[in-house]
Amino acid sequence: MKKALVVLSGGQDSTTCLFWAIDRFGGDNVAAVGFNYGQRHKAELECAADICRAAGIEYEVIDTPIINQLSANSLTREDIPVEKTKPEGAPPNTFVEGRNLLFLSYAAIYAKTHGMTELVTGVCETDFSGYPDCRDMFIKSLNVTINLAMDYNFVIHTPLMWLTKADTWELADKLGALDIIYRDTLTCYNGIKGSGCGNCPACFLRRRGYEEFMARKDK
Ligand code: ZN
Repeated sequence: MKKALVVLSGGQDSTTCLFWAIDRFGGDNVAAVGFNYGQRHKAELECAADICRAAGIEYEVIDTPIINQLSANSLTREDIPVEKTKPEGAPPNTFVEGRNLLFLSYAAIYAKTHGMTELVTGVCETDFSGYPDCRDMFIKSLNVTINLAMDYNFVIHTPLMWLTKADTWELADKLGALDIIYRDTLTCYNGIKGSGCGNCPACFLRRRGYEEFMARKDK
């Protein structure tokens, strides 16, 4: 059986991917890693650890403070407020340059070291917020690159790539993980678990998706 490593931040998307991986590969064949890069809300890593503990999944946090040293953005710097609207033609100031490139490369090294070939990440191009390293083209390119770099047959899985936020809630529901994800994940830029502050861009997207999914479900 193939072994899978989930990149798990403790948010809605990556947690949905965790349950997708458990469903697809079996819980015994799944592990998860999170990255501590000096993000404002370490609480998300605690959420991820709690979710893994409850699901019986091994979870390791990898320290990557170098990311914060390289670039300044509102997710890692207390003195930069989260923008409510994004500037024209540029990613929002929550963007961490090259984050998925680095995280997936680190995850690949970890996976190979532990005999795992499948990498699972919650990146998504549908609700594209202007993050270039969430795009399908980038993931496919990186998959080729890490396979060449490490002479190994990695497969990067992106179960959410073409889903809307409402579809992602629907997937969580199908996987029997809707309540856990609604209650125990942290997506909010202000660090509030579950339904969040209700006021930041992440809360807005999460709630709009949930309402759309519930409306669909009620039909
Ligand atoms: Zn919020």
